[in-house]
Amino acid sequence: MTAASLSELAPPTRLLLGPGPSPVSPRVLRALGTPPLGHLDPAFLVIMNELQAALREVFRTRNPFTIAVSGTGSAGMEAALVNLLEPGDTAVVGVNGVFGARLADIAGRCGAKVVKLEAPWGEVFTPAEVEEALAREGNVKLVALVHAETSTGARQPMEGMGDLCRRHGALLVLDTVTSLGGLPVEVDAWGVDACYSGTQKCLSCPPGLAPLTFSPRAVEVLKSRKQKVQSWYLDMSMIADYWTEGKRAYHHTAPINMVYALREALRLVLEEGLDARFARHARHSAALLAGLAALGCRPVAAEGRRLPSLNCIFAPDGVAEAPVRKAVLEEFDIEIGGGLGPLAGKVWRIGLMGDGARQGSVVAVLSALEQVLA
Ligand code: PLP
Repeated sequence: MTAASLSELAPPTRLLLGPGPSPVSPRVLRALGTPPLGHLDPAFLVIMNELQAALREVFRTRNPFTIAVSGTGSAGMEAALVNLLEPGDTAVVGVNGVFGARLADIAGRCGAKVVKLEAPWGEVFTPAEVEEALAREGNVKLVALVHAETSTGARQPMEGMGDLCRRHGALLVLDTVTSLGGLPVEVDAWGVDACYSGTQKCLSCPPGLAPLTFSPRAVEVLKSRKQKVQSWYLDMSMIADYWTEGKRAYHHTAPINMVYALREALRLVLEEGLDARFARHARHSAALLAGLAALGCRPVAAEGRRLPSLNCIFAPDGVAEAPVRKAVLEEFDIEIGGGLGPLAGKVWRIGLMGDGARQGSVVAVLSALEQVLA
C-alpha cells in the first residue's frame, strides 16, 4: 500500500434506515470534529459532568452512577453483566431474539448459572413468566431483559417487572440500545437497576459509546463483590473513580471526541423534548407501516408490542427479500436491514431512529420499495 494507491476517503452517501447506525445530524458531526482536550483537563471534566446530567434526563433517573462506557452497545451489555455477576450466581435472561441470546452468552461467560426464559421471536415476556422463574429458581442475582429487541421489532412491556424483581431480591438489567431517545424509557419508575444503551440508534450519534446507569442497589452489589471484576477494561469500580468529582483517577483515555458528539446529540434530544421526540417516532412508524401494508408487508410483532424505532416486517409473499434490499441500497442509496436467525431471508428491518424518523425517510423508502417490487 502506497500513499498514491490510498485514495481520499469518499464513502457513498446513504440514507441509513437499517437497524443502526442511524443518520447523524451536522451539529453532532461538527462536535465530533472539535479539537480534543486532554482527558484530565478541567474543561473536559466539566463536559463530562454535563454529559452525565443529560444522560440522567434521557434515562429518566437520578442515579449518581450514570456514565458513557467506552465502546459500542455490547460494551454496555458486558459492563452491566461482568460487574454484577460473580461465578455461581444465577441469572434469569429473557431470550426472544439475538440480543437476549447475547445477554445469556455473556452471563454464562461470567460463570453464572443462566436460566433462559424463552419466547418465540417477535413475542415478549409477561411479569407472571418472570416471577414464576424467580420463584422456581430462588436466590436469583439478576433478571436481564431486552426492552427493544432489534432482531424482531418487539417492545418488551416493563410495567411491574421492577417490583417483582425487588420482591425476589433480584436486580433488573435492561437493554435499551434501540429504545433510548426513541420511545419511553423510565429507569427509576420501572425499578431498573442497570440500564445500558448505544449511541448509534435513536440518539443519532456515531457508534462508539454505551450510556450506562446503575441504581444505588446495583452499586452496592458491585462494592460488595467477593471477587474482582474479571474484565479490567470494564471494571466499573475503577471507572467510577474517573467519573466521580473529586477523584478523577486515570483509568483509560476517554474517547474525547465521542464524548463531544454524544453531548451534542443529547442536547438535540433535550431541545426537542422527550415527549415530542417519542411522538415523532410513533407518527412516522405508523405512516411507514400503513404504506408497507399496501405493499403486502405485515409486521412480525403484534400490535401494541411494536417498536416505532425498528419496524420488522415480513417481505410480501413470494418475494425474495435479499435482492430487493440490495437494489434499494444500490439504486436508491437507502440502507435497510435483513433478518437474523429464524427470520433470515423472511423479513426487512427498517429503522426510523433519531434523525432518521422523518417524513422524508418514510416517503423515500416506500417509494424505493414500490419501484423495486414493481
Ligand atoms: N442490544 C441491542 C438490542 C442491539 O440492537 C444491539 C445492536 O444492534 C446491541 C445490543 C449491541 O450493540 P453494538 O452493536 O453497538 O455493540
